[in-house]
Amino acid sequence: MKIPFIDLQSQYQAYKGEIDSAIQNVLDTSQYIMGPSVKQFEASLTEYVGAKHAIGCASGTDALLLALMAIGIKPNDEIITTPFTFIASSEVISLLGAVPVFVDIEADTYNINAELIKNKITSKTKAIMPVSLYGQIADMDAINSIAEKHNLIVIEDAAQSFGATYKGKKSCNLSHFGCTSFFPSKPLGCYGDGGALFTNDDEFAEKARLFLAHGSKRRYDHEVIGINGRLDAIQAAILDVKLKYFEDEVQSRAEKGQYYIDLLKDKGIQLPTIKEERTSVFAQFTLQSENREGFIKKLNDNDVPTAIHYPTPLHLQKCYKGLNYNVGDFPISEKAANEVFSLPMSPFITKEQQSYIVDLF
Ligand SMILES: *Cc1c(COP(=O)(O)O)cnc(C)c1O
Repeated sequence: MKIPFIDLQSQYQAYKGEIDSAIQNVLDTSQYIMGPSVKQFEASLTEYVGAKHAIGCASGTDALLLALMAIGIKPNDEIITTPFTFIASSEVISLLGAVPVFVDIEADTYNINAELIKNKITSKTKAIMPVSLYGQIADMDAINSIAEKHNLIVIEDAAQSFGATYKGKKSCNLSHFGCTSFFPSKPLGCYGDGGALFTNDDEFAEKARLFLAHGSKRRYDHEVIGINGRLDAIQAAILDVKLKYFEDEVQSRAEKGQYYIDLLKDKGIQLPTIKEERTSVFAQFTLQSENREGFIKKLNDNDVPTAIHYPTPLHLQKCYKGLNYNVGDFPISEKAANEVFSLPMSPFITKEQQSYIVDLF
């Protein structure tokens, strides 16, 4: 049985008529930059997430960058984050000349360990950037309360957790900023690059919008140095269709995730742990085992694709040699990097496919 890692084709077929006509509509009106489709999608996003402001942008990376720019991050400022994430989380910190300060993760959720944060706070610390990895939100109450005590901004990297909830509230609406990605393989994906930034603060929203469009509110009038970070109008039109069906997909993801967990029980492998009062959108369905290579070989030999999110923690990346971290600095992250692997997952995976996969364990 040939199984796609993420079944984007079945998803497109399910909404094809509406998506095709949404794209055609943008072509018919020729409003390619900003315009009504972006405005409409931002309104839909605001309603879905519950935050006051939703700002479409060119990627999840730009959403993170814009949040940092909006709070005025400067060279040598310090931002606390996790080393067990995709490079974009810390990349934007470094691009501004600021310093990512890493804190190890929890062994069960793979998210930043809030208890270890306070030891890393200095007079230079400006913000905390938790990453809601694999689709489960980090421990936001604990993180927000540390931030409040030390007057820090919290930016949730919610690229993998769009649609997940924490105590009934949606990801992206749990801190000063929520930043998500619409990269095709993310829970809500478009057909190219896209992202969005959320905040309940009017001033932060205004600043983010200013930086998003070359630091300009009026054409050829530039108040600050900004970027070209706009969300593409065609992607916005596609996303607005997909968002209508997204809650059903979130439900399906939860069911498929639970089905995997039920099938994989008693196989002597570490399963995803979903904490009380949280839901996961299973952006990845990730397992952990010392025998990772054996499982991957068996799966791949039987046409089941796998992936490793992520094989090298950020503190050990070549690009961060200058930060002088060493092997052993973040043992939980390093162990995870050596042992995790992800199985095919999407709202369209069938129970038959899941059983086939699990029978290979
Ligand atoms: C995908 C991802 C990003 C970046 O999103 P892009 O849209 O690809 O720029 C940032 N952080 C995490 C955790 C991600 O998974």
